[in-house]
Amino acid sequence: MIELARVWVQYHKPHWALSDINLTINKGEFCYITGPSGSGKTTLLRTLNREVIPTHGQVFVAGRNVGQLPDPKVHLLRRVMGIVFQDFRLLPHKRVFDNVAIALRVQGIPPRDLKRRVFIALRMVSMHHRIWDFPSELSYGEQQRVAVARAVVNNPAILLADEPTGNLDPELASELMGLFQEINRQGTTVVLCTHDRDLIRRFGGRIVLLHEGKLQPRGRT
Ligand code: ADP
Ligand code: MG
Repeated sequence: MIELARVWVQYHKPHWALSDINLTINKGEFCYITGPSGSGKTTLLRTLNREVIPTHGQVFVAGRNVGQLPDPKVHLLRRVMGIVFQDFRLLPHKRVFDNVAIALRVQGIPPRDLKRRVFIALRMVSMHHRIWDFPSELSYGEQQRVAVARAVVNNPAILLADEPTGNLDPELASELMGLFQEINRQGTTVVLCTHDRDLIRRFGGRIVLLHEGKLQPRGRT
């Protein structure tokens, strides 16, 4: 499903944000990318959706060579993956409904089908009753749940999340993790960046550990 082959990323010389990363994530896996702040977790995630193109090496996602995908075809890649960003990136002037509907609108889904799918995604995160609110009317945790609904409304094969529990209290973090596990049980491959080892211990899954841009052998969390 996901493969990184000898991936190196450099933003500024001489520092390498990622050094020689070789990693395969299989279909259906629940995989944590962990490591201290600055170790390259976000950079690794960004190579998967082509926000970052590796300086060297190749990234494959769902059979596509991400670095070689021409700009007009990037939407094909984004169609197989949903992303929950660390800072949500909800559009402040659009209602919850429109925020979640975006991914479907660009695909030209008919309005009635679109409404039904947006409602189902929001119900899954228990936010269907807030469908006509604006993000500013929601609490932090509620905004995060809307961001998850937006990421999964497309039934993506892959769900990426960057520190999704970073600013949630433990109870909300547990709730959100339960939601990711449920999404994973339904067949979606989940890749979740977090520096929170307690979270990983509590919920379990495969651990990929980074340190200063390098992959570490397992067991050294
Ligand atoms: P993490 O998510 O584990 O905290 P990042 O992937 O954000 O790590 O960062 C890895 C390294 O790359 C850090 O040294 C960081 O300063 C650097 N870096 C990340 N993003 C950029 C950027 N857009 N421009 C320059 N340097 C960056
Ligand atoms: Mg990060």
